[in-house]
Amino acid sequence: AYTQDGKRIVTLIPGDGIGPEISKSVVEIFEAQGVPVVWESVDVYPILKDGKTTIPEDSLISINKNKVALKGPLATPIGKGHVSMNLTLRRTFDLFANVRPCKSIVGYKTPFDDVDTVLIRENTEGEYSGIEHVVVEGVVQSIKLITEEASRRCATYAFEYARAIGRGRVTVVHKANIQKLADGLFLSVAQEVAKDYPDIKLDDVLLDRVCLQIVQDPTKGWNNTVMVMPNLYGDILSDLCAGLIGGLGLTPSGNIGQKASIFESVHGTAPDIAGKDLANPTALLLSAVMMLRHIKMDAHADNIQRAVLKTIAEGKARTGDLGGKATNSAFTKEVIANLSKQ
Ligand code: ATP
Ligand code: MG
Repeated sequence: AYTQDGKRIVTLIPGDGIGPEISKSVVEIFEAQGVPVVWESVDVYPILKDGKTTIPEDSLISINKNKVALKGPLATPIGKGHVSMNLTLRRTFDLFANVRPCKSIVGYKTPFDDVDTVLIRENTEGEYSGIEHVVVEGVVQSIKLITEEASRRCATYAFEYARAIGRGRVTVVHKANIQKLADGLFLSVAQEVAKDYPDIKLDDVLLDRVCLQIVQDPTKGWNNTVMVMPNLYGDILSDLCAGLIGGLGLTPSGNIGQKASIFESVHGTAPDIAGKDLANPTALLLSAVMMLRHIKMDAHADNIQRAVLKTIAEGKARTGDLGGKATNSAFTKEVIANLSKQ
């Protein structure tokens, strides 16, 4: 959706805990950069409707209309019989692929300096289909569901994403040697999709091999491809990749869906520092940068990303999680100062 003067309307879900503080930082930086985006802010929390968990009507309408949302962390209410908010959003908007890039941040030292992995996780089925039952006492069965349709849209998105970010290779991560039918289908569908992308090479690798090789040296062969895989493998491997660059506090993510796409920081609500202006807004800022690329505002995305990374690298205004003493506001101010210097 657009405003009358041609600005893109985007839904903002500030979220809970540190969510409102880090969202404010994004809003201020977008304004300073002059990004033609108008925010529509909504509160998202679980409500029960006909025994099912859903979200408030106004947020539903807003996301459906705008098709793109930026989301801060949401608290999961415990013990009220709700399914998690993330699962609710995934189901409500059919968010079929989760994109998680992990790029080393200069100024935040980790064992490897030049990590630049991109991972796409199938987000709707596999081991997380939620089909489990007790066969007899002491024996349970949990079904891993793989469909051609979900595999195809996930693989197609991986090829599109590879092309968009200028990578010439897609790598399917699987265990088709053991899960012959399930992972076999996921792999063969990707091979079929590959025929429509002659400019991009497709290869595949076993999950256990990736785990071994990527922690030995992620820069050897993993920086020039887009990894794509079924749900459970992606859940685990994406956290492993985040660990390589310093943890969840710095990693952005995008949930790509049929009805809408939602970009979010991967970390939680950080209740211990909420309301104290101590949070690091980097993960949400980099998620907002991914969102800008998704809506084809690449120049603004590049500029904001450069300013954020420059601010961390310079080290004058690092937040506590990165070993500094700066407040969220001080960091934000410095990013804004760096925007105009380039
Ligand atoms: P939730 O229940 O929402 O998952 P949590 O406390 O279990 O919250 P996180 O919010 O991920 O999990 O926090 C883990 C630790 O990392 C906390 O000490 C928190 O303060 C810190 N942390 C998380 N995100 C940030 C951030 N953006 N900036 C600074 N510190 C952070
Ligand atoms: Mg937590």
